Amino acid sequence: MKNTSELLSVKGLTKHFPIKGGVLHANEDVSLTVFEGETLGLVGESGSGKSTFGRTLLQLYRPTAGSALYRTAGGETVDLCRLRDAELRPLRRELQMIFQDPYSSLNARMTVGEIVGEGLYTHGMFRRGTPAWRDETVRVMERCGLQAHMFGRYPHQFSGGQRQRIGIARALAVRPRFVVCDECVSALDVSIRAQILNLLTDLRDSDGLTYLFISHDLSVVRYLSDRIGVMYLGRIVELGESEAIFASPKHPYTAALLSAIPGVDASGRRREPIILKGNIPSPANPPKGCPFHTRCYMAREVCRQKRPPLETVAEGHLSACHFADKVEKREKPH
Ligand code: SF4
Repeated sequence: MKNTSELLSVKGLTKHFPIKGGVLHANEDVSLTVFEGETLGLVGESGSGKSTFGRTLLQLYRPTAGSALYRTAGGETVDLCRLRDAELRPLRRELQMIFQDPYSSLNARMTVGEIVGEGLYTHGMFRRGTPAWRDETVRVMERCGLQAHMFGRYPHQFSGGQRQRIGIARALAVRPRFVVCDECVSALDVSIRAQILNLLTDLRDSDGLTYLFISHDLSVVRYLSDRIGVMYLGRIVELGESEAIFASPKHPYTAALLSAIPGVDASGRRREPIILKGNIPSPANPPKGCPFHTRCYMAREVCRQKRPPLETVAEGHLSACHFADKVEKREKPH
């Protein structure tokens, strides 16, 4: 752990969406802390609620319940969930997001320079069109691997990897403190992905950024995360330091995700893949008891009746499983 100073403290964050004939339980009672300077990875299948969590945390969606205490650059602690839009506006500069899709998240009618430099004048850091604004925009572009002569070009003239660099430059131009990276390398091929991950790591280390790094791919999350949270059906089911999660998973869902990564475990054995039954249930109708019981290879009767709380199972390591101590050895509970 790089730092133990809390930047964000999330308690009971819940997001429901009304749908025809019911409610979509996108996030249920999510509590976690983000420490300054760390990268917290958030992993889970599509439909697990990771992206909704990122957006709700940044108040792009307003939560149904819960709080998110944030320590601002000015040293004040504010609950993002309680702030009105006008109160949030000045904090938007500090809280940025890099989106998954470098194709649709950039305005096709704006030049790269305008896209990257827009935040600099909307947040009052520079006056639009001035030489100082242009110099700063070019400086940020170059840091993100985009050359000055690209300033007047349009997004469609760029490759996927370069467009993602534009998205990163746009987010980082305003010197944020906390950045949600939402599946931001998923659309890229493997060699470009490595370049973008290296860029994110370099920028984090040089600017002291804090990331929430969301991905369905555990091996990508591992690459730059200090800690990892595993989400299933809108809840955190495991949370711990990356190395601990990889060496000794304490939730059967995490063990199944890990077993899908080719390679060997901490003791050098080849991992036997764990095949999960069926698909992730609908968040409109989550199962009673443990939300994972319909697919869990360790499920017992108690799992169908009682939802396990997220509890500490080792130092800094939490799991929501009645049989957390049996997961690593894949023992069948009695
Ligand atoms: Fe599986 Fe039961 Fe643990 Fe849920 S509580 S993850 S069903 S063993």
